[in-house]
Amino acid sequence: MFSSLIKQKALQLGFEACGICKAEFTNEHAEYLHQWLDKGYYGEMSYMNRNVEVRSDSSLLIENAKSVIVVALNYFPEKKQHPDAPQFAYHAYGKDYHLVVKEKLQQLYNYIQELFPVDGRIFCDTAPLLEKYHAQKAGLGWIGKNTQLIIPGKGSFFSLGAIVLNRELDYDTPQENRCGNCRKCVDACPTQALVAPGLLNATRCISYLSIENKSMLGKPLSNNQIYGCDICNKACPHNQQAKATMVEEFKPSDAFLNLDKEQILQMNEDTFNDIFKESGVKRIGLKGLLKNL
Ligand code: SF4
Ligand code: SF4
Repeated sequence: MFSSLIKQKALQLGFEACGICKAEFTNEHAEYLHQWLDKGYYGEMSYMNRNVEVRSDSSLLIENAKSVIVVALNYFPEKKQHPDAPQFAYHAYGKDYHLVVKEKLQQLYNYIQELFPVDGRIFCDTAPLLEKYHAQKAGLGWIGKNTQLIIPGKGSFFSLGAIVLNRELDYDTPQENRCGNCRKCVDACPTQALVAPGLLNATRCISYLSIENKSMLGKPLSNNQIYGCDICNKACPHNQQAKATMVEEFKPSDAFLNLDKEQILQMNEDTFNDIFKESGVKRIGLKGLLKNL
């Protein structure tokens, strides 16, 4: 009963999907992670090489961890940039998704604490929890050849978050992978970063190069992407069913939508801070944005 109440509350809070899986070691995750790390596909994300044991075993995330609740928040925008403008990934159109997801997760956690005595911890891209693998395990969808979580009938433009609890709940059944013979995402990637179906070489990925790569020695970006990249997401047929987000914080400002190359080149710190006030783009700063341009 508690599990269905938690899911109901998650949907009320605006999450598009919510599932629950057991907190435990997952061999499949461990094998994938070791393969990825051994090949050095993590580039400068050296933090991925730390806490490897915890990344494959969610039972180590908190003391006596039992359950992982995974949620997905839709950020697919209704209004989009002009295609000739330097392109930002959809997840960067509005307020930083880490903040938005965490605020909603905190509300969900508060609700759970009203239901029963429990200890837990909230995660959104900030700790050694592989959200998308737990999302798959918790029955939200499957991980496509583009390495994104795909939710049936809804697509992959979702930010994920999780709550780990020291309490057992009812667990969902993982969904089967429905990519089949499709390889549209692999073929669409302009930098051949998807070196095999479901295997991403981040050092070739525009998303990594434009956001995570802190050195000024990044490879030239392509396809007019200035922050992040949605090319393999846009290529996926399952995103044809994507519906616009209802989350106000994710909706872009007119100032953002009207940005063109000249405006960005002329931008000063004040304008940057104004347009990207609460945005994740602040992570790379004006200097990083100009480097990418
Ligand atoms: S995000 Fe862009 S660069 Fe990275 S794998 Fe997808 S299409 Fe390729
Ligand atoms: S484009 Fe095709 S292969 Fe790639 S994730 Fe979507 S369904 Fe899977």
